This record gives sequence, structure tokens and C-alpha cells, in this order.
Amino acid sequence: MRTSKDVVIIGGGGVGCAVARELSQYKLNIVVLEKECDVAGGISGRNSAVVHAGFNNAAGSLMASLCVEGNEGFEKLCGQLDVPYRKTGKILVAFDDEDMETLRRTIEQGRRNGCKGLRIIDEEELRRIVPGVEGIGGMYSPETGIFDPFLYCVALAENALENGVDFRFNSEVISIGRSDADRFIVKTSAGEEYRCRYLINCAGLSSDRVSSMAGVTGYTIFPCRGEYFILDKVAEQLLPMPVYPAPKKGIGGLGVHLTPTSAGNIIIGPSAEYISQIDDLSCTREVMGGLFEQAKALLPAIERKYIIGSYAGIRPKLAPPDEGGYRDFVIKEEEARPGLINLIGIESPGLTASIPIARMVRSIIEEKTPLEKKENFVPERRGPVRFRELNEEDQARLISEDPEYGEIICRCQKVTKREIRDAIENPLGAQSISAIKYRAWATTGRCNGGYCLTRIVDMLVREYGINSEKITYRSAGSELFRGRVK
Ligand SMILES: Cc1cc2nc3c(=O)[nH]c(=O)nc-3n(C[C@H](O)[C@H](O)[C@H](O)COP(=O)(O)OP(=O)(O)OC[C@H]3O[C@@H](n4cnc5c(N)ncnc54)[C@H](O)[C@@H]3O)c2cc1C
Repeated sequence: MRTSKDVVIIGGGGVGCAVARELSQYKLNIVVLEKECDVAGGISGRNSAVVHAGFNNAAGSLMASLCVEGNEGFEKLCGQLDVPYRKTGKILVAFDDEDMETLRRTIEQGRRNGCKGLRIIDEEELRRIVPGVEGIGGMYSPETGIFDPFLYCVALAENALENGVDFRFNSEVISIGRSDADRFIVKTSAGEEYRCRYLINCAGLSSDRVSSMAGVTGYTIFPCRGEYFILDKVAEQLLPMPVYPAPKKGIGGLGVHLTPTSAGNIIIGPSAEYISQIDDLSCTREVMGGLFEQAKALLPAIERKYIIGSYAGIRPKLAPPDEGGYRDFVIKEEEARPGLINLIGIESPGLTASIPIARMVRSIIEEKTPLEKKENFVPERRGPVRFRELNEEDQARLISEDPEYGEIICRCQKVTKREIRDAIENPLGAQSISAIKYRAWATTGRCNGGYCLTRIVDMLVREYGINSEKITYRSAGSELFRGRVK
């Protein structure tokens, strides 16, 4: 099938979805092509989920300015899109005088970047703000927050969808050509062909390859893995805000930190290790061993028995291993291929900065093509009810209105049958266990889906008529069942 579009966006991560939502305010015909079966299947679903303040990035860099701008608007955006967000503040901990000196320099850099309220705290204040955290003092950042990165991508995408953007999943871009009329010809693994004037490369770890496909070589992404532990919600009361060590010169991570999540867990990580494959998401014994010890040095009260899971995310670095550190984001239209807008090396703080990144893409387009605003753009999106966040009175009212709110499917996270149904019937039409997991937060508790997974599968089979052998965990190839035993 051949389709004509004004804009093709490659990649349904946080950046691609933010660009889609930004451009959906205008009279443009837009499609997002995503190789996985849902949004947030790449880096955007595998990170620390912190809304950074912007003090870590070199003054004058795009990373710094877009992060500060993103941070300023994040709370309002999450309110508009119904995404869990909490402005927690953050502490950077000093263990010695050298660390304190580094933190003073970090504050200076942060002030130059426009960060508000950064200040040094002494040991007494450290203990008061984050009881149980070791250190001789630290730095306090009041503007840092935490959010749900999955629901962030889902919400951006649903809002873009409502405003007319088309999302195509299981659609890997496999070739990009050029027509006589200066249109890009984009072919996908689903057998579809799109012609477009603007091609926006938001392909994360594959953005160098996508750029080459479009005829612009010379970029190399160096994958750099970060591994994490997830702690049970019982550890929640141990940590009110993210706690990081003072920055150290290294290969370009922020150091192993402890971060509360918007769902009430704590994550520990990430490590930083250059690897050779962009899809090697292993959690390794060597790295994980060290991770826990580093976290325990910051917060001695954590115990191994709190660990309920692990995951890894991969940074799309432009800085090669022998250089380390950070190179700035590349966000530009390529002179050699007018209409190709490359977004390359979007590592941390890419999610915090995603809306300002999207605005930059819009203004690149606007310089060449006048954009007309839609009169009927809807900026708000409301997600389904999150039952566990309601008070008892509201829960009782919902149960009386719909008995499926009274049936708990995931006991660890208190997720009701109605919420699972809302997740199955999601507006984007994403169909996988992970699509349900990230929307309803089922299977993410201590039992790791031991109780609820079979019940969810049962619903899919009995109530939606889905063949159990077709149920996948994520994209094709991750089928859960190979046949029936009875
Ligand atoms: C360990 C770690 C911690 C981080 N912590 C934070 C943090 O706390 N705060 C913060 O703001 N940022 C953080 N980041 C950075 C942030 O996660 C990224 O900057 C952001 O998620 C990048 O989004 P993206 O959309 O560019 O990439 P992705 O989310 O990877 O999206 C790219 C998409 O393109 C798709 N794709 C690739 N090739 C093709 C193709 N050929 N055809 C179709 N689709 C394709 C992929 O499947 C993927 O879904 C962290 C990153 C890492 C790795």
C-alpha cells in the first residue's frame, strides 16, 4: 500500500511521540512508524524516570537549555496529559571535601544553565531531608521530579492520535529512497510505502543507521548499557526523593543512584558500560553485584531481600568509549538531504527535554513551510482510572457503578479487572502483555505476575477470543505459549 504524508516520524519513543503531539497542533498529515508493537519499547521504557533540573549538562549545550526548559513545563504537561508526576527534589551526596568542591562547581554550572534553587546542604540538613542517607553533606535541587515514562509516552501518543496522527506498530523502516519530486519514499517491514516531504528520525539507538538509510552517513551511535535493580514497595518509606552520588568524571552516566518511582518502588542503578550490540539488554552478575554495594553505601538500610527485579537501558552515545562523557544532542535538518530532520545521540536528559526537542523540530519545519494551526486541537488527555490512587469513598462509588472495579486481578499493585480491560482496549490498539503491564501496572509487583498473568491471559482468551498461542509478551517472537497441555 502506498500512502502520501506531510511528515513521517520514525520511532515511537518519548521523543517521537513528543514530536508527533507537537506537530498534531497543525494542519499536517502525520504518521509515526514504530518497529515494536507499542510505544516506549526502546530507551524511553528503560531509564531512571527522573525529570532532571539541568545542572549536569555543560553550560551552553542544547542538553542543558532543553533540559531546563523541559523541566519548567513538565508538571503542567503531566497534569494536562494525566501522567503520574511528583516534584520530589533531589540530593547529590558528598562523601569527602573533594566531592563538596565538585558540588559547588555543579551549582555554578547549574546557575549558568538557569536552574533554580540549587544549594549546598550540611550533614545535619542532609539527615533531615533524607534520613538514613550517609554523607558529610550535599547539594539540594528542589526542581527535580519523578514521573512514569511509559504512561508519558502512551499519553503523548494517545493525545497525538486524538489530534489526527496515525500510529503504525510492527512497522520497521527498512529502506528510504528519494522520488523525483523531492519526496522521501519510506518502506516498512509491514509492506507499506509512505511518501513524505519531512522525514523525522527519532530512532534512538538506530538513529545513525536510519540516517545512513536516508543518505546521510557519518554518525555512529556507541551503545552504553546501564543496569538496574528494582526494589519492592516495602522499601518506599526509606527514600522520599532521588539520591545521587556527587558527579565523577567517567564514561558519561550520573553514577549509581537510588530513585523512588511514581509507582512506589525504588530503583538502584544505572551502571555505565560500553557494549557492542544496541539490543543487548542483559543484566550481568559482575555489574549487578557492585551496583547493590554502591547503593548501600548511600543508603545502608536497603537489604537484598527487597530486590524484586532488574532491567537494563542503553544510552545512545555519540561520545566513543575512548572519549567518554557527553556529546551534545544533534537536532537538525541535514543540508545534504533537505527535509530529513535528524535527532541523534538523544541520551539523558532526553525525556525531560522531549517537549522542547519537539518544539525545535517544529520550528525547523516552520522556517521552510508555513504551518497553520488547527482550530480543534485538543491539548488534554485523560487516561483510565488508577484505582489504587483513589480514596476509599471514591473506590466504593466506582465499585457500585461497575463491579469489575471490585475484582482485583493484580494483588501486589491492587489493579482491578476494569483497569485491565481499559488497558486491553487501549486507544493505540497496542496488543501485548507489556502493553497491559505498562498501562495498568499489573505484573510489576513482588510476585512478578505469578498471580495476575494467568488471569490476564484468561481474559484475553475467554473474553476477547484471542488464541493463546498468539499472545506475546512484547513484539513478535515473544509468544508466551507453544501449545496446550489439556
Ligand atoms: C540508563 C538510562 C537512564 C536514563 N535516565 C533518564 C532520566 O532519568 N531522565 C531523562 O530525562 N532521560 C533519561 N534517559 C534518557 C532517555 O531515556 C532518552 O533520552 C529517551 O528515552 C530517548 O527517547 P527516543 O524516543 O529518542 O528513543 P527510544 O525511546 O529508543 O525510541 C526510539 C524508537 O525507535 C524505534 N525504531 C528504531 N529503529 C526503527 C526503524 N528502523 N523503524 C521503526 N522504528 C524504529 C525503536 O523501536 C524505539 O521505539 C536515560 C537513558 C538511559 C539509557
